Amino acid sequence: METTTHTQSLLSHLTCSNCGSSHSAFEPQLTSTCCQLPLEAQYNVYEPISKNALLRRPATMWRYREMLPVLCDENIVTLGEGFTPVLPLHNLGTKYNLKQLQLKDEGQNPTGSFKARGLSMAISKAKEFGVEGCIIPTAGNAGVAMAAYCARAGMRAVVVMPRHTPNAFKEECYWYGAEVHLVDGLINDCAAKAKELNADNSLLDVSTLKEPYRLEGKKTMGYEIAEQYGWSLPEVILYPAGGGTGLIGIWKAFREMQAMGWLSEDIKLPRMIAVQAANCQPLVETFLGHQPNSKNYTGKPTIANGLAVPRPIGEQMMLRVIRESRGTAVSVTEDEMLQGLRELSASEGLFVAPEGAAIWMAARQLLKTNNIAPDANILLLNTGSGQKYMENIAGKYR
Ligand SMILES: *Cc1c(COP(=O)(O)O)cnc(C)c1O
Ligand SMILES: [Zn+2]
Repeated sequence: METTTHTQSLLSHLTCSNCGSSHSAFEPQLTSTCCQLPLEAQYNVYEPISKNALLRRPATMWRYREMLPVLCDENIVTLGEGFTPVLPLHNLGTKYNLKQLQLKDEGQNPTGSFKARGLSMAISKAKEFGVEGCIIPTAGNAGVAMAAYCARAGMRAVVVMPRHTPNAFKEECYWYGAEVHLVDGLINDCAAKAKELNADNSLLDVSTLKEPYRLEGKKTMGYEIAEQYGWSLPEVILYPAGGGTGLIGIWKAFREMQAMGWLSEDIKLPRMIAVQAANCQPLVETFLGHQPNSKNYTGKPTIANGLAVPRPIGEQMMLRVIRESRGTAVSVTEDEMLQGLRELSASEGLFVAPEGAAIWMAARQLLKTNNIAPDANILLLNTGSGQKYMENIAGKYR
């Protein structure tokens, strides 16, 4: 088969995630003008693209250059994000009789979480469009990442986060020179405040899935998983879902790689498991049919700050991924997260974010109910480092 090597973005247009209608990718866009729902980037994949070119590229998320939306290399705002390791968990695997248990450690990204991927991409696109400043409602990590990439791009940064967020998140934003606003409530209350602060639209709002490019950064996890598994895939992926960009992005990457011929037809796609906090589990409630959707859901704070997203705009997209992949949605209590954090730290040396601890406990839950088989090839996607969460967890080990 003839293959071509590109070094430029193959971005072609954006489509509405709800009705599929086309929108320009060459002017700034927020949610779709047709349905006010997330837009998804589409690429011109009309001929096979060589995987061999990857061998000569840097070990960052930018190695998938053709399938990323930044048009000119000089607009790339990078701190070396991506290509995080996939680590075997031999000790926990032995203890629980599991054949293939692995963890992709996104805590090793710049600013300590996988939010670096999305914000590196969004801020690069913002730079490409000539934006002078950005605003974000955040549970913590996204605000820190945005502040860092804005600093690097020379852009103004305004971060709106819940008052109860651990100080480490606020402090880091201050050091990057961001303007920080504290709000009583959860991320949806911060979104309302951000809207008010940006009434004149002078800043680009980079809220989860309200602009199309954070998703493109997060999808690189899917490309990396395939490459790191030797162009095969795990059977089950557990992912801590808040706004859901990672879940949706990883699935988007799998579909793109199928279209590009990077994943052969006989490679089965993984079951995608969305994990939430019992304190804030809108997706689980909708998945179980307890509510038609999460539009009126109210959640409580959780030590896994990134999971406190009571009304995710990407809910329908997440449910589609779970259904298509024959996955499921489950929740984990605060106590279980602490127990999982203790196990991952003491047994594997991995001081993960409470969100990452939650997925390990969800795996244990699903193994117990035979939803996951003990001989399955399981990948835990740990989204962040535990270090900024100290106020939530200090002294709580048992
Ligand atoms: C934001 C965040 C999540 C949730 O990610 P989404 O893409 O919004 O689903 C999970 N874990 C951590 C550590 C986070 O910062
Ligand atoms: Zn639409």
